[in-house]
Amino acid sequence: MRIDRFVRRLPPEPEAASADRDRADANRRVRAVVARLAQARPDVLRVRDLRRETAGGLRRDHYVFDHGGREGVRGVLLAPAAERGPWPAVLVCPGRNATLEGVTGLTPPDHPDRDVAVRLAGAGFLTLTLDYGLEEGSGDPRLGARDPADVLDGAFRLAGGSLLGALAEDALAALGWLAACPDVAPDRIGVFGHSLGAAVALHAALLRASLPGGEAPPVCAASHLGDYATMIGSSLAWNQYAALPSILRHADLCDLYSALAPAPLQVQYGLADPRVDRHEADRAAERIRKAYAETGAAGAAETRALPMGHGTGVAEAVDFFRRALAVRETAGPDVPAAVVGFDPGDRLRITDLVDDALASGRLTLGAQGARLEDLAGRWLGRGAAAVSSGSSALEIALRIVGVEGRTVLVPVNTFFATAACALRAGAWVDFVDTEPDGLGIDPGALRAALDAHEAAGRTVAAVVPVHIAGIVSPALEEVLAECGRRGVAVVEDAAHALGSTWRDRPAGTFGRLAAFSLYPTKVITSGEGGLVAAGPDDLDRVRSLRDHGKRSFHENVHVAAGGNWRMSELHAAVGVTHLARLAEVTAERRRLAEWYDDHLGAVPGLGRHTVPGGCVSNHYKYVAYLPEGADRAAVRARLRAAGVSLAGEVYDTPLHRQPYFAESFAGRRFPGAESFTERHVCLPLFPGMTRRQQERVLTALREALS
Ligand SMILES: *Cc1c(COP(=O)(O)O)cnc(C)c1O
Repeated sequence: MRIDRFVRRLPPEPEAASADRDRADANRRVRAVVARLAQARPDVLRVRDLRRETAGGLRRDHYVFDHGGREGVRGVLLAPAAERGPWPAVLVCPGRNATLEGVTGLTPPDHPDRDVAVRLAGAGFLTLTLDYGLEEGSGDPRLGARDPADVLDGAFRLAGGSLLGALAEDALAALGWLAACPDVAPDRIGVFGHSLGAAVALHAALLRASLPGGEAPPVCAASHLGDYATMIGSSLAWNQYAALPSILRHADLCDLYSALAPAPLQVQYGLADPRVDRHEADRAAERIRKAYAETGAAGAAETRALPMGHGTGVAEAVDFFRRALAVRETAGPDVPAAVVGFDPGDRLRITDLVDDALASGRLTLGAQGARLEDLAGRWLGRGAAAVSSGSSALEIALRIVGVEGRTVLVPVNTFFATAACALRAGAWVDFVDTEPDGLGIDPGALRAALDAHEAAGRTVAAVVPVHIAGIVSPALEEVLAECGRRGVAVVEDAAHALGSTWRDRPAGTFGRLAAFSLYPTKVITSGEGGLVAAGPDDLDRVRSLRDHGKRSFHENVHVAAGGNWRMSELHAAVGVTHLARLAEVTAERRRLAEWYDDHLGAVPGLGRHTVPGGCVSNHYKYVAYLPEGADRAAVRARLRAAGVSLAGEVYDTPLHRQPYFAESFAGRRFPGAESFTERHVCLPLFPGMTRRQQERVLTALREALS
């Protein structure tokens, strides 16, 4: 069989090699592909059993873990017995034929460098070694001479996965478990792997990097280098379970290593390894170094050709981890303003749903949109219709109220779209000042505005409260009562507030209609998209308006001057998957916000905005106040220089000062909104944000304000 001809027939990935100017983008794509092909769903290890002993100057913990699909995974943790942690840690992924006992020193090693976990522990690292469980079933006579790993891999493939994917998922869970271990310094964790274990280490590190806000840990990989095409041709070196199914359509082995950049990497290969093609390995090593250099991380990748067979240079590995896991002088990872992130499991669900939509041929107003509406409806306890954006949601809602030629009152502190949508729906817009506690419409200012418009003979068709930062203002009750008395419709702009409540009632259920945005920066996103929440009759009109004012989807009968404000099925697939996470996302945001609440006192001069009692915020934004007279732009710049980006303000300019409105509103003053917009900042807060990142925000703020 001419294997090389088969391999050459594999379709090359059109842009992978050539057109990729930006190596960082290519690396991001490789990591995403690995997450997809590994079918990885990040999960936590749960300890089922622990037996502890001390021997040879080491503490030895025998664990049995359960997680996700796999149960009863054995692991051994070694820690220096005498000293106290937290220690830097190394997850050890042994080769195919190593035993847990041999690697962790319980039995004498059958090969001089097999006891790598003990030797790393002797050098001061806490190590965790998991058993792959590949010998399970090896006593089964039906297996015959077949390798149990091949059989297992076949079983995983039937389920759409692979053995390597499953092992990498175990290792990913182990990395998470180590980071939460009180004995471990959470930002000083590396992964070691030999042969098959190197493949596991590599893929687990890539999976970790593909998590929202995730970073690859330092990796040391021994005796696992070359390119897949050469490896598959040399039967000695090849086990089908050591690669992800169809990986070669996207990346070769050295592309995978390159995608770890900028994480510290040591790749070792033996000059006398019968399973490694020397020239292939040299070439791959050079490609990795070059790719690292292209991301500006030239020194971080080292390749070592060692005088050994299919083994491990343990001394080199120890030396590598000493350097890679040394206490870093930096303050920790940079803090971005926000991270829009989908974990690998959700990305998989989304691609499956997109594939469903593509296969069905129904690309708009189909099953995914209906699922999104159903899910949103269950959250709100009120019907919801999916539309193309938050802005179209607002415009549709205002058109249904019928604001054309009449006045719409909008809080002066909001996003431009709140006012612009009213203009597009044909209304005159006037602004109302906001109050400081709930950041909502000031009821006194609203009454004055309603009186003034009435006195001038202008009818106010609608008032649009905005739940700034995810806060439902207690003043909303007075606003609703005032509007109710005067027969003025309320349309909520709930773009910030999906998941927020006021006295247990969800934002989006107070107005006659409400608009939500699913733009990427919002708490839940569909890429682009929005939702209108309303009662049944209004909802029928929303469905008609979003689809050119048709009487029904299947008829060419138009009963209103609607537009194309539909949400595509592809967007709905993203939205429904993300919306299913709303409870989790808001819970995580709440934890992060509470940590800021508890620790902001350590920054002299910085005030925090307290969420009013009765409101449960989704913590879309965390609002804080700079000291009187502080120069916000200068503070922002100082923070940026310290690696911390503040989130965008809500908002930095009240609408009457935006150029589009400035002339019409010249001379008008809105003191509440003016003082709020000038003084506040929004601290970075996003799912996946770490404690260290939050600490770094505070440190940077303290320095920037001193
Ligand atoms: C985001 C946002 C909108 C507009 O939503 P899009 O989906 O971007 O059209 C409207 N109002 C407020 C308050 C917003 O934050």
